This record gives sequence, structure tokens and C-alpha cells, in this order.
Amino acid sequence: MLPPSTPARAPAVWDVIVVGAGPAGATAARVAAENGCETLLLERAAIPRYKTCGGGLIGASLAALPPGLPLNVHDTAGQFTFTLNGRRERTLDSSSPTCAMVYRSELDAALTEAAAVSGAEVRDSTTLTTLEQQGATVTVKTNRGDTLRARAVVGADGSASRVSRYVGVQCAQVDLALEAEVPVDGRTADRWRGRALMEWGPLPGSFGWVFPKGDVCTAGVVAARGNPAALRAYKEDFLERQGLLGPRPLHDTGHLTRCRRPDSPLARGRVLVAGDAAALVDHWSREGISYALRSGDLAGRAAAHLVTAAEEKASAVAGHYGRQVDDILGGEMRASRSLMNLFARNPGLVHTALTRLPPAWRHLDAYLAGRTSVAEIMATPFARTAAALATRLPLKPARTL
Ligand SMILES: Cc1cc2nc3c(=O)[nH]c(=O)nc-3n(C[C@H](O)[C@H](O)[C@H](O)COP(=O)(O)OP(=O)(O)OC[C@H]3O[C@@H](n4cnc5c(N)ncnc54)[C@H](O)[C@@H]3O)c2cc1C
Repeated sequence: MLPPSTPARAPAVWDVIVVGAGPAGATAARVAAENGCETLLLERAAIPRYKTCGGGLIGASLAALPPGLPLNVHDTAGQFTFTLNGRRERTLDSSSPTCAMVYRSELDAALTEAAAVSGAEVRDSTTLTTLEQQGATVTVKTNRGDTLRARAVVGADGSASRVSRYVGVQCAQVDLALEAEVPVDGRTADRWRGRALMEWGPLPGSFGWVFPKGDVCTAGVVAARGNPAALRAYKEDFLERQGLLGPRPLHDTGHLTRCRRPDSPLARGRVLVAGDAAALVDHWSREGISYALRSGDLAGRAAAHLVTAAEEKASAVAGHYGRQVDDILGGEMRASRSLMNLFARNPGLVHTALTRLPPAWRHLDAYLAGRTSVAEIMATPFARTAAALATRLPLKPARTL
């Protein structure tokens, strides 16, 4: 589906090399190419590739997509069912259904194609193995034996990123998510059509979800890394209760999500990180696609500036990128960390507020639609008071599974 873009002549030194063709990398490559850079996008997998992900696009993600991107939406959630460990179930209507359900293989291939159309060269099945910097040049080696040079590199190679290790990204929160893509019969598909489920789970800070995609439901659970047996048990129990344990899943996988420390670096010299590689993910919902798209855009622009920057100005350009990410996404992450702190200590309060206090649901609904942000929600008097009180509570102990 993706035209392999092989230029007549590869430059001896690329302007920008982007590592990883997820939403962050495909966006960075497109933006760098649009800014006139000779850009190479490396992807380890063959495109289209599978990615463990709910594929739920909230309003902030939809708003950050390039205009006119062909997007294959398999369902749109207009209703949200919330439960607390399977109890106190309540289904609420969204004022404007905007949470679009997509397959990441399709979304990421479309974003990569947009990068190729903008002039980036795409090389899939190519893994970065090492990188080093000398003066104004970054040297990248790949599993194919290539030695490539660039004036700037964007690491967008996901939550197990090599570039992230090189830059020294530090995390405040690391979670493990387990997820299955389950084919469903017509009756089950009807039951889920247009409705997503969020269950606040038995492990501290955990939740489960079912996202409908027509003849498939994506269902999974997430909790702090470190107790995989308890998480696996929660997943089995959750899928069984949702009637999704019987059919053989199309995919049954796990993946880490990471949230950066506020002081974690976003660049080292001429190497920038974006998306999951920079550990830019919402602490509470673990939503990361909007973060990947927005940081990818900023990284693509910053990389284009690095190409023309004199050696002595490179650190100022990289520092400016860090400040932009912090201005736009840092406030969101600080607010979501505070919400996560409240949720992990008192999920029952969060559940009651959402399902019983109409203004709380209206705020979350507006966030899903992209009309407000987590930072704005956490600045409301109710959320501020609840978050302050939560710091005095112990973490909620796990229920026996
Ligand atoms: C179970 C689960 C469910 C989720 N559900 C949602 C959701 O519903 N909505 C949402 O907004 N977010 C969700 N997220 C978060 C979201 O998936 C990520 O935040 C998002 O994928 C980040 O995009 P990215 O481009 O930074 O990284 P990725 O999408 O991970 O892309 C990184 C790319 O880099 C490639 N790569 C890795 N190493 C190398 C290398 N050395 N050389 C070359 N290429 C390399 C990989 O193959 C991959 O294609 C979920 C996460 C998980 C784990």
C-alpha cells in the first residue's frame, strides 16, 4: 500500500533522519519534509505494521491530524459505560460522538504515506542499531549494514526506544498494558456498536476498556508495571465478564506505556525525542496518540531549524524544542499526574463524580471531544480540592482477584 520512495540519489548527509513510523515519527518526517528538508524515515517493521493500541482517537488527536488524511474509522463512541470493578455500572451519552475508533496499522500507514507524499523517503524493515554525534553530524547505523549521516535526528521509536536511552529520558510512571483484538459475532457487535466501556480496576491506578470496531472489539487492561501475574488475572476476569474470552483473538499482546519526569531531557545535541520515545503519555488515561502527533509536529519543525543552525546555536534550538513541548504538553501531563494520584487513591470518588455529578461528566465529555483539556478540568475548584485531599490518602490496596 505504501509506495517505496527511492530517490535517484541518496544524499551523503541527510538533513533529518526520523526513527520510527508511528504517529510521532510519521508526523515529524512529514513536517520536516514540508519545511524543505531532505528527510529519511526509518521503520523497523514492514508497513503496515500491527501496534498494540486501543486505537481510540479523542478530539485532540483528530485535531492534530493533517487535513484531508484518509482515515478509516471503524466506529465512533457516542456512549460511555463506566463501572467500578464491574459494579455500579452507568452508561452516559456523549453530547457529540467524537471518539473515533481506528486500527493503528491503518492510521500509521496513512500518516507515513502523507510523509512520503511530502517528499520524505521511507525505508521500512530497517532498524536503527546505534547512533553517535560528532560536531554537526549524527551517524546512524542500521541492521542492514547502512551507515547514514544527518544534521538532525528525531527519535520516535516508541516506549522501548533506543534513542530515548541515548538522550537519557527519565520516567515517573511505567505501566504494562495487555490487550486483545477479539472478533465478535453480529449480536455482540450490535451490543457494543457506538459504545465504549471503561472499568476502574482492582489494582491501584488500573483500568480496563472495550473499544468497538464493528466485527472486532479491542479489549485490554493497564496497571503499574511490576505485577504481571495479577494483571494477567485481571485481564482474564475482565474479558470473561465482557463475554470476550471465548473467541480466538486476532492479536493478544502486551506493551509498556511510560510517562516522563517533568525534568527529563527531550534532546541531546542534534538528537530530539518525540511521542512515546519521549515518554509523553497521559498519566491517567494513558492516551498517547495526541501527544505523539503534537510532539512529532514540534520535533519536525525543530529538526528543520537544526539543519540550518550553526554548531554553537544547536543547543539553543534543542532547548527551544524542550520548552515548546513543556508549554504545550507539560501542563497537561502535570494535571493528568495529579488526576492519576487522586484516581489511584480513591477510584470510587472518581467513579461517583463522573457518573453522579453531571458537571464532572460534561467536563470529561468535553475533553473527549477536544473542547477542553485535563489541565482545565484539574483547575476547577472541585478537582483541586479532591486532588489536594488525595495526597493525604494511602494507595488503594489491590482487591484479591
Ligand atoms: C494497550 C495500549 C492501548 C492504547 N490505547 C490508546 C488509545 O486508545 N488512544 C491513544 O491515544 N493512545 C493509546 N495508547 C498509547 C499509544 O499507543 C502511544 O502513545 C502511541 O502509539 C505513541 O506513538 P509513537 O509514534 O510515539 O510510538 P509508536 O506508535 O510505538 O511507534 C514507534 C515506531 O518505532 C518503530 N521502532 C522501534 N524501534 C525502532 C528502531 N530501533 N528502528 C526503527 N524503528 C523502530 C516501531 O516499530 C514503531 O513503528 C495505548 C497504548 C497501549 C500500550
